Amino acid sequence: MINMNMRLICTSCGKDHPIDEPHQRCEDCNEPLEVEHVRGKIKDSEIVWERYSDFYSFINQKLINELSLGEGNTPVVFSKRLSHELGNEIYLKDETQNPTWSFKDRGTLIGVIRAIQLGYQRIGTVSTGNMAASVSAYGARAGLKTAILVRPDIPEEKIYPIVVYGSNLIEVEAKFGMIYRKSLEIGKKAGIYFINSDDPFRVEGYKTIGFEIAEWISKNGNLDYVVVPTGSGGLLRGILKAFLELKSSGLVSEIPKFIAVQAEGCSPIAKAYEKGVDYIEEVEEPKTIAGAIADPLPPSGNEVLRKLKKHGMAMAVSDREILEAQRMLSKSGIFVQPASAATIAAIRRLSDGYTDYTDKRFLCILTGAGIKVVSAVKEMLKLESFNIQKTDLEELKTTLESV
Ligand SMILES: *Cc1c(COP(=O)(O)O)cnc(C)c1O
Ligand SMILES: [Zn+2]
Repeated sequence: MINMNMRLICTSCGKDHPIDEPHQRCEDCNEPLEVEHVRGKIKDSEIVWERYSDFYSFINQKLINELSLGEGNTPVVFSKRLSHELGNEIYLKDETQNPTWSFKDRGTLIGVIRAIQLGYQRIGTVSTGNMAASVSAYGARAGLKTAILVRPDIPEEKIYPIVVYGSNLIEVEAKFGMIYRKSLEIGKKAGIYFINSDDPFRVEGYKTIGFEIAEWISKNGNLDYVVVPTGSGGLLRGILKAFLELKSSGLVSEIPKFIAVQAEGCSPIAKAYEKGVDYIEEVEEPKTIAGAIADPLPPSGNEVLRKLKKHGMAMAVSDREILEAQRMLSKSGIFVQPASAATIAAIRRLSDGYTDYTDKRFLCILTGAGIKVVSAVKEMLKLESFNIQKTDLEELKTTLESV
């Protein structure tokens, strides 16, 4: 079932790893691995995994049909209001419309298929929210036993979307980066395939976002920037890899610049980028409302830095800016998590401070739905007054007239 011609290559030193073994990071330098770039063409199909199947030589279409919950094909929404407010053209790729309300599903499907192809019956992940829910859902669908490792400080509201699918929730008292590392090490010995944040096959799944954006560009004209909320770095790697594969296939000539956005309270990639150094440093006490991008030791951080040298830049925004941006988006009818709102906060900062950033075309990846992080809404609403009007049936007419 595994295509033995395909190769798993280190993103840093280039070392080749056997494809039929469960390698996730380089044996020599411990940097992330990636599936060798392929060339192909886009096919004529409504189904994402058929349309881009040339770029997934290893995928077994039967497993896709069995396990897909309908990932992808998300809309790109133009916001007239935000465009006006920010003095740029703002397009929003609404990833909240995936099966478990975040883009993670695109990568989880491919990760689960990889685990099955390697013969695993148990899978796992390390997460605080969206990925846990996603892996739980696909684990349930595939009939696999699923272990979700979280830190003990996980807020209660994040537990329900995980346990509802029937996975094993395990609290681990350790730093996030250590749990990531140990899970891969122990998982291999214990026969559990951990589909973590930047697993090479998860990243393959994220490529579909890049393909969809490229198709959008071919119909609507070039973008200047793709703005990506960045935690581990897996998402950015996947979108960019799609563009690189399309370019070497001769299907696109230009690649938009990428802006990796982090939260100031946990911004190892943005810090390293600003300092101009090649390696990230672990953040000791991460603190931000944007939990989904708060990865204190991003496993693909160095690789993102390598890629940004040619393809873009990284920056960080404050929690206050994120909450304001979340409010701005909700006024356009789009309710996202703080991590996703960081994209708008970044454009706002750029368009305020730098004359280079006017009349440009930005596309923001709105990575996850707001309804999953209710606590952030409470914070967001503190920024302005709101109240619930009370009335009875006699007064209802008068009350409604005042609306
Ligand atoms: C996971 C996640 C991100 C960041 O993705 P990485 O691949 O870890 O960089 C951004 N936003 C949301 C909502 C997420 O769930
Ligand atoms: Zn290596």
